[in-house]
Amino acid sequence: MAEILAEERPVVPVPLDHRNEFELLAATILSAQCTDKMVNTVTPALFARYPTPADLAAAGITDVEEIIRPTGFFHSKAKSLIGMATAIEERFGGEMPTTMDDLVTLPGVGRKTASVLLGHWFDEPAIAVDTHVLRLARRLGLTDSDDPVRVEADLKEVWPRDMWADTGLRLIMHGREVCPARRPRCDGCALWNACVSRGAF
Ligand code: SF4
Repeated sequence: MAEILAEERPVVPVPLDHRNEFELLAATILSAQCTDKMVNTVTPALFARYPTPADLAAAGITDVEEIIRPTGFFHSKAKSLIGMATAIEERFGGEMPTTMDDLVTLPGVGRKTASVLLGHWFDEPAIAVDTHVLRLARRLGLTDSDDPVRVEADLKEVWPRDMWADTGLRLIMHGREVCPARRPRCDGCALWNACVSRGAF
């Protein structure tokens, strides 16, 4: 299945604009409950004003809120962004942590967000399980769980380790474009032959 997805979508650039690991982490925090397109409209101003963790750690929360307001939930996201940057400064000497155990100690960073950074910046084997991956993994019969940690473990059993990160991202794109929650487009779906839910909608 990982191979079919790779044939369908050989190149999968991360849809969140970023130039370094700090920007990718901040953009991923902002992407909660928000489209990537909208995140990409606010991050140029955010990163121009606060280009480093030290800059963001020293930011005023209302200034950050004003910039990120269009992404929604801007009070909590601003708090997470400043908290994340402060933690990087105070606990990691200004350097982005590089392990799951350390990343999930940063405010606003859960396992999914940490996996985006590990898989798509640090080239570590990781799968970011978002709502699309959860839905698709069940539809495809790759898991019987709704628990993201269990689903991640089940996917790691069946996908080649060196394809974990990109396959996860391909599944997200497939979920968005071909197999949304409502009205999946089974006709013409590249995964038809591999899918236990084909034609069931
Ligand atoms: S065959 Fe249908 S249900 Fe299965 S992945 Fe494709 S669109 Fe989704």
